[in-house]
Amino acid sequence: MCDHHHHNSKQNDKLRIARIILALIALGTAFLNQGSLAAGLYAAAYLIAGADVLYKAFLHIKKGKIFDENFLMGAATLGAFAIKEYPEAVMVMVLYQIGEYFQDLAVEKSRRSITELMDISPDYANIEVNGTLVKKSPAEICVGEIIVVTSGEKIPLDGTIIEGNAIVDTAALTGESKPRKLIPGDKAISGCINTNGYLKIKVQKPFGESTVSKILELVEHAGEKKAKTENFITKFAGYYTPVVVLGAALLAVIPPIVTGDAFSVWIFRALTFLVISCPCALVISVPLGFFAGLGGASRKGILIKGSNYLELLSRPDTVIFDKTGTLTKGSFNIVNIIPSDGFTKEQVIEYAAYAENYSNHPIALSLKAAYHKEINPSFISDTEETAGKGVKTLINGEIVIAGNAELMNKYNINYPQITEEGTIVYVAKNEEYIGCIVIADEIKEDSLEAITELKKARIKTVMLTGDSESTAAVTAQKLGINKVFAKLLPLDKVEKTEMIIENKQKNKSVIFVGDGINDAPVLTRADIGIAMGALGSDAAIDAADVVIMDDKPSQIPAAIKHAKRTMTIVKQNIVFALSIKILFLILGAYGIMTMWGAVFADAGVALLAVVNSLRTLR
Ligand code: ADP
Ligand code: MG
Repeated sequence: MCDHHHHNSKQNDKLRIARIILALIALGTAFLNQGSLAAGLYAAAYLIAGADVLYKAFLHIKKGKIFDENFLMGAATLGAFAIKEYPEAVMVMVLYQIGEYFQDLAVEKSRRSITELMDISPDYANIEVNGTLVKKSPAEICVGEIIVVTSGEKIPLDGTIIEGNAIVDTAALTGESKPRKLIPGDKAISGCINTNGYLKIKVQKPFGESTVSKILELVEHAGEKKAKTENFITKFAGYYTPVVVLGAALLAVIPPIVTGDAFSVWIFRALTFLVISCPCALVISVPLGFFAGLGGASRKGILIKGSNYLELLSRPDTVIFDKTGTLTKGSFNIVNIIPSDGFTKEQVIEYAAYAENYSNHPIALSLKAAYHKEINPSFISDTEETAGKGVKTLINGEIVIAGNAELMNKYNINYPQITEEGTIVYVAKNEEYIGCIVIADEIKEDSLEAITELKKARIKTVMLTGDSESTAAVTAQKLGINKVFAKLLPLDKVEKTEMIIENKQKNKSVIFVGDGINDAPVLTRADIGIAMGALGSDAAIDAADVVIMDDKPSQIPAAIKHAKRTMTIVKQNIVFALSIKILFLILGAYGIMTMWGAVFADAGVALLAVVNSLRTLR
């Protein structure tokens, strides 16, 4: 029920096949019969195959958009009918439908691989029936029904909490690293994960209108964000059709007047010319090429939100990387805990873990994991996270601060110089420094490979980080990145990115790759924002243009290569379809090309374009 879009297109496909078969049967019968019935059978076959094309042409004419491919086909085939070339007229329509069928098939295939990837869609909703929970499909739940979401489950539909408290992880939807506490009366948003409580929710929106569905829709409609090349085709069609129609009209009138030939010969040629001109192959192959490109990328775990990004990805100038969680694993090992006089190591890690309770930052997750014990959230209140610095919170009435040197400076806390290599989290309680935790992150296995490949392709690489200069320098040196900017807050990252965009080569793009934590603003600002999906927890789905599902930096050069390949294929399709078209138009004008030849040529070009486009899917 929820997936009726899918369902519809399947039904369309079946209907289309039925129409193609019926039209072919009628055509065959007419061919064999050739008697009084033949004309009627041809007309029936023609309408079965082409009624929708005629209807679309009619609608467009009513809207004042006369010249489109439907008009061309309608005019050409009706003309062919008028001069009694019935089978040709029918075949133009039948082959067009076959082309459309294959196009649908390919689009459907790409769409499926894109949506399979998007795992945010909830599989079920719990309904309480006589004290036990029953799982139902979210699409079957009506507005006003009460659903139950237990710990660890996804909230399936938008609604209001009527019972229970929980901390929910909204990162999948917003990329925001702050978990939210929900109490009765609050709104629950679908797609969030209930991390710890038991919630009863009164459903407010049907599944189709819930937040999750909207995001899925956004991804599904990726094909609609048109690349420049696609816009070029639309514009081109606007000139092409009138020129061709005018050409056909001139062809029908001028040569017979000049040469004194019979009009019928040249009218026939003009109609052949029109049939040849149908730009099916071109119209089909360009968007299909892009769509297949999007589908092929998603099969590799690269989710691209629109064909315009494919085009931008194909000509990169610079790739900017965030450090933590992007080039590094973001899972920190504790190297050392250095307590201040009068405190124990256990106390330092305990305060740190409690302070980080509501944070989703990789550092926070690592500290909580290192604490090993259950955290009782009822002691914690008023948590404030400063992006790129750390956290401040009240624990049992005491102010606890955990973060980097800048955070300590901000609150005027005296802390000792630590010379150990690594990222240092300082911890203070009631304005008194109580110790620090030295943590170290590991570089991802394929980071070096990714940077090396980019450099080989002559693409510039830059690293931006909120971490200290020394830690940044060590990482950059290991990876061979020569441009590094450290100690940046989220907005500094935007500024640096803007500077890089200003200095880029014309017509090329600047890519930013981040984990969605503390870098959502840059993701939006860069020409292409790429988010590492899994660790930043489906992070900046909103902010990013491209999402890498498996977090591997080596996917960046892979994505660029894939985009280049897609662009090559799209360009091949354009050049191929156009040159065949022009050649055949000339042959048609000289009367060398028959209508049958023209029909099969266009179908052939369209089919080759489809096959060529499907190469990007593999
Ligand atoms: P990066 O730019 O490398 O991804 P961030 O901008 O996420 O790093 O964070 C920059 C620095 O801010 C971290 O290296 C850390 O010192 C500090 N920091 C940020 N969030 C936290 C936190 N929740 N707890 C402790 N320190 C934090
Ligand atoms: Mg980061």
